[in-house]
Order: sequence, then structure tokens, then C-alpha cells
Amino acid sequence: MMTRATGILRELVGFQSVVGMPNGGIVEWIADHLRSFGVTAHILPGPEGDRANLFATIGPADRPGYILSGHMDVVPAREAGWDGDPFLLRIEGDRLYGRGTTDMKGFLAAVLAAVPSFLARPLSSPIHLALSYDEEAGCRGVPHLIARLPDLCAPPLGAIIGEPSGMRAILAHKGKAAARVTLTGRSGHSSRPDLGLNAIHAMTEVQQAAVTAAIDLAQGPFETEFEPPYSSLSIGTIGGGQAVNIIPELCSLELETRAISSVDPEALLAPVREAAEALASKGFGVDWQVLSAYPALSLAPSSPLAGLLKDLTGIEPLAAVSYGTEAGLYQRAGVEAIICGPGDIARAHKPNEFILASELAACQSLIEALGRHCRRDA
Ligand SMILES: [Zn+2]
Repeated sequence: MMTRATGILRELVGFQSVVGMPNGGIVEWIADHLRSFGVTAHILPGPEGDRANLFATIGPADRPGYILSGHMDVVPAREAGWDGDPFLLRIEGDRLYGRGTTDMKGFLAAVLAAVPSFLARPLSSPIHLALSYDEEAGCRGVPHLIARLPDLCAPPLGAIIGEPSGMRAILAHKGKAAARVTLTGRSGHSSRPDLGLNAIHAMTEVQQAAVTAAIDLAQGPFETEFEPPYSSLSIGTIGGGQAVNIIPELCSLELETRAISSVDPEALLAPVREAAEALASKGFGVDWQVLSAYPALSLAPSSPLAGLLKDLTGIEPLAAVSYGTEAGLYQRAGVEAIICGPGDIARAHKPNEFILASELAACQSLIEALGRHCRRDA
């Protein structure tokens, strides 16, 4: 027999809500589903116009409550190795296969399956569902939702970000910023370098600045909960040129930083940006584009939210993880945030991504326990 959470997960997996694409289908389905329980969903379109965040409240919105946060987008499923259609939930024993089952439609399904229990008796503190788009593109959607929170609800007590953590609460992750630099020089025949401007040659100065910055960062400062315990910087791609006998007009490079919690990730890119912009004085066109950025998460182990999750999970929170989430953006907006969700992050972004039905059930139980906590003084 299929549980309520599994049935909802099957519906959610069926929407190809791939990052960077319109997401009206999944948003409408979730809004309709909530409406069938008498819960009103606010559909909050982003500036792109064709995709939206979704926010809904169960209980008194004018009182402080808890946000359950998840993203509706998934990474594409073009990688080889899938044994079936990634957008058709496939059940084999306890395993539920499909794109997004772990990251993170499983959490969304568990939350939606818990809604009837929230409604069974009045909540004294509300529970909010905050579902975002384009998280997989560097958390691009959720800032538009967070900006609307003051209109939507009283300042929340905390946000639980349901990224896969094996249902153990996580207090910290690094921040990240990614950027692309493009240099435009002047093309020509390679026999006359004196007449051209070689964009690949010029990019070596940007690379050198990046490598120097990366070496400096490894010297500290340190925060020992992270691996590695320092901020890092890495060039991920470089491209340019057409043929060996043509002076390359264009060269572009993409790099990212991962910052410990006391450091602003975008600030770490500054020396690289300066090196790029200095090339303008040599006649190059310089374009600097920030691709994505989100701050680190750092929640004190003594915070009430950490204490609540310790009680709900029955296990001490984990200090830190290496992947990033929307949690740092909530924290920066003044909302305490913690990560706790079903499944193993190691299964995410891979063929045959799956979640266990037992993991879904455990997540739903925890969320229902949060509901009981929210009516403790009713
Ligand atoms: Zn995710």
C-alpha cells in the first residue's frame, strides 16, 4: 500500500521542475493540494515572470512560528546511468527512485503529508511552508520570498531547511560565491601579435591572482568545524580561442569561493576582480558577472532552535556540512535557521537518485512532532 507521502512524492517527481525553467506546474499542483485542505497558498512570482515561490501558513500568521523550507527545483537528469525515467517514481522495495527524491522533493512530500495532522487541532504557533525555485542555481529564488516575509507573517522563531541530512540537525555550512570573467581583446593572424590583443595571454594575470588568493586562504583564518577548515577559492572552467594561428579575441574563466562563516564569500573574489579590471588599461574589454552567492550558516549550539531540533530528532546536532543551502540567507535576514531533512546528500545529483520510504516516514513523524510542539501551550 502506498503511503500518503509516497503518493505525493510520485506527483512531485512527475513535474520536470528543472532549475532555470518555468515552474508553474508544480506550484499550481501544491497550491491545489493545500487548497483541498482549506489552506491558502500565496504564489509569489519572481522577477523572471515564469516561475514562482510558494508560501502558506497553517495556524495564526500573526504569531511567531516555524518555517519549513524546501526548494521545488531539481537538477537536470541528463546524466547516463538511470535505469528508468527519472521523472517517473519507481518503487523497488523500500527504495523510491526518481530525480529529486532525495534533493529535495522527499522533504516536500513529507511536509505536505503532515498537513492534515497540523489541521487536526488548532496550532498556537503557526507552521509556514516556504517553497522556493532555482535553489540549484545558487539560491536565486528564495531571496524574493524572504523579502516578502514581513508582509506574510510575524517574525518567525526559526526556519528548518529540509536538505538531506539523514534527519540529523546541522548547524553550519560554508558560504559561496561564483563569478565569470570574460576578457575581450583583438583578433588577428598569429604571425602579427603586435597588431592584436591576446585574451588568453591576458587571462594568465587573472589566473595568477586567483591562485595566489587560493594559497593565501589556506593559511587561515580557520574554523575547525569545516573541511577544509579555511575558506577556499578555485577556478572551475577556462575557455577561449579558435585555432592555433589566430590571436584569441575572447577568453572566459569561472571561479568560486567557499567561505567560512566569519567571511563574506563575495569579498574573497575581490583580488581576482581587481586583476581582471586592471586589464582594461591595456585595452581589454572586461566583463565581471556574479553567477551566484549565498552566505554561510552558523547557528549557535545553545540556540533555542538547535535545542528544539535536538529534542525532536533525539540526537545531538552535527557541527557542519560541506554543501550549501538557503539557510544562510534566512539567517542573514534575521531568521534563525537549521538544516534537517531526510535522505543522504551523497545520493543527490546522481543517476538512480532514491529515498527510502522509511526515511520519508521518519521525516513526516518529526514534522508532526513539530506540529505537537506548536500547540504545546494551546
Ligand atoms: Zn537541495
